[in-house]
Amino acid sequence: MGWPSTSRTVPWMLALFCAAAFIEQHIYIILDLARYCYAGRLILPLVQIENAAAPGGRASRGRLPHWLRKPEAHPEAVTALKRSLRGLHLHTVCESARCPNLNECFHRGQATFMILGNICTRGCGFCSVPKGVAEHLDANEPANVGLMVAEMKLRYVVITSVNRDDLADGGSAHFAKTVREVRHALPEARIEVLTPDFDGNLEAVGRVLDAAPDVFNHNMETVARLYKRVRPQADYRQSLRVLRFAKQYRPEALTKSGLMVGLGESAGEVMQLLKDLREEGLADVATIGQYLQPSRRNLPVAAYVKPEQFEAYREYGMSIGFQEVFSGPFVRSSYMADVVSGLC
Ligand code: SF4
Repeated sequence: MGWPSTSRTVPWMLALFCAAAFIEQHIYIILDLARYCYAGRLILPLVQIENAAAPGGRASRGRLPHWLRKPEAHPEAVTALKRSLRGLHLHTVCESARCPNLNECFHRGQATFMILGNICTRGCGFCSVPKGVAEHLDANEPANVGLMVAEMKLRYVVITSVNRDDLADGGSAHFAKTVREVRHALPEARIEVLTPDFDGNLEAVGRVLDAAPDVFNHNMETVARLYKRVRPQADYRQSLRVLRFAKQYRPEALTKSGLMVGLGESAGEVMQLLKDLREEGLADVATIGQYLQPSRRNLPVAAYVKPEQFEAYREYGMSIGFQEVFSGPFVRSSYMADVVSGLC
């Protein structure tokens, strides 16, 4: 048997080359599709794959600095919680944003509910929550969050949401309704809301605060200079205004804000941000964590900040009057939120 003729081989090689190029270009979309198709069974391994990405998406988990390696465990607890969430058509930012703490938090019976759907109307470079045309609001979502928190017997509930710039009220009425449902389901629980900026609509912010959350959290996410690249549809000063308004409108609520480091900021810029948050007492609590590229479509990591630097940020923050600064590589704005707030 001789070699196949060139006229037959070339088209095959071309087709194979095109298929390989397509898969290389779209591998994360394909993985996402698989994730949605086999939500309960495949999410955990995918989270692990995505967490292995490092600057430029090329480094393997083994190349992450030693302080960024986490033991993976507790698959039964994670699967059980995911099954309950799916049953009530609920989303968590833990899954949608591919949080590296998911295993640990789900094992502790903690999760951060992400309401107003699973599609965000903005395109922040750091975030892996799906983006695009927003979904119809699920009118049952507030009540279902109430059912879920009761099933989980939570003492501390964190509720966040995608941006809904397509809705006239930014989704604030739905947000407030969810807070009230949680309060009704678990009157003793403390409630933290982690809100978007509602496009600067302070009436919308007030609507959420009228539902009387114990903690109002709005993340600055990054330093002023990097907003265009990291949060192109947001505005640094506008986010400060949201926090200022919350503090004045409901002074009894603890205010909180967080940022990621490792996106290309300098230490001086982080300190300036902390100073901006403390001016007029806009935030009582700050959270600072390492940015980890959740997928290849997101911004690359510019630097892995060392634990000593996180400690230096904490010390600086405490020295200028924060009630608490939770600063460390795996800190996320909702990580151990019950402990950080000091309310439980
Ligand atoms: S840190 Fe927050 S977002 Fe991450 S898994 Fe824990 S509760 Fe979810």
